[in-house]
Amino acid sequence: MPSHVLAILNQPSADAAPHERGAAAWRFADPASPNVSALDLGATRGDGIFETISVGNGVPQAFEHHLSRFSRSAAALELPAPDLDTWRAAILATIAELEPAPESFVKTVLTRGVEGDGRPTGWAYGAISGDFTAERTAGIRVVMLDRGYRHDVEKTSPWLLAGAKTLSYAINRAAAREAARRGADDVIFISSDGIVLEGPTSTVVFRRGDTLYSPGTGLGILDGTTQANVFRYAQSLGLSTAFELATPAALKAADAAWLVSSVRLVAPVRELDGQQLPIDTELTAGMNEYLRTLRD
Ligand code: PLP
Repeated sequence: MPSHVLAILNQPSADAAPHERGAAAWRFADPASPNVSALDLGATRGDGIFETISVGNGVPQAFEHHLSRFSRSAAALELPAPDLDTWRAAILATIAELEPAPESFVKTVLTRGVEGDGRPTGWAYGAISGDFTAERTAGIRVVMLDRGYRHDVEKTSPWLLAGAKTLSYAINRAAAREAARRGADDVIFISSDGIVLEGPTSTVVFRRGDTLYSPGTGLGILDGTTQANVFRYAQSLGLSTAFELATPAALKAADAAWLVSSVRLVAPVRELDGQQLPIDTELTAGMNEYLRTLRD
């Protein structure tokens, strides 16, 4: 069985014509071959959206949360709405085709398609995940970087698409390179008015006493599927959970902090702007175990 699989959707949205009339809803294609047009707006303008879904022993995790976020991102970009039944089927077929593994992932991409064509492009790509044991146990060094937008950017400037999972991740990649230049592994973005936001590919969670906190939505940041499950796990242990705006100083004073995301799952922050943070080894291990073995 292949260690990576590509399914190309014939009609990613019921609101637009199919690529081939009467053809199956999706077809498998060779992921190593060219499959996307050089004129596709996803490639030329980053004009599209994506999701990356963790798959644990063949089960897509937070599946419906990912799909609803996919739909919300499409609406933010005024893309034709994804036909979720077709996407669900293509994602499950991709997983079924993929070599069985404890941890893999499926990335779904929906673009505006070839300029002037009116038909969006959609595909699901599945592959085996890398090994994130070191990040999950030893933790990561993080630097805080100014994102340059106020924390209310989502309300004041919706055209910036803050909070949508768009393909325009060049800035997120640049921030990761800046972290590496500063001797760190990852980034936490801070708003221009001093509020803790999110990582370039992750959500911030921190613990103070018996409560887990996260910044929450409405701040121009993603509604994290992993954060939602981490909160569920914490509640099952009897911990409280809350959404709270935090300053960098509050984060540095936390009893523990994590960057949480699909695929890498829960990475404890062991150093924040050069300051050591305590690692909650037991809680971190419990969170990762819970996420690895989720049944949906
Ligand atoms: N924030 C950003 C900017 C992301 O790109 C991601 C995931 O890639 C997340 C947060 C975490 O989201 P999730 O836990 O749903 O993977």
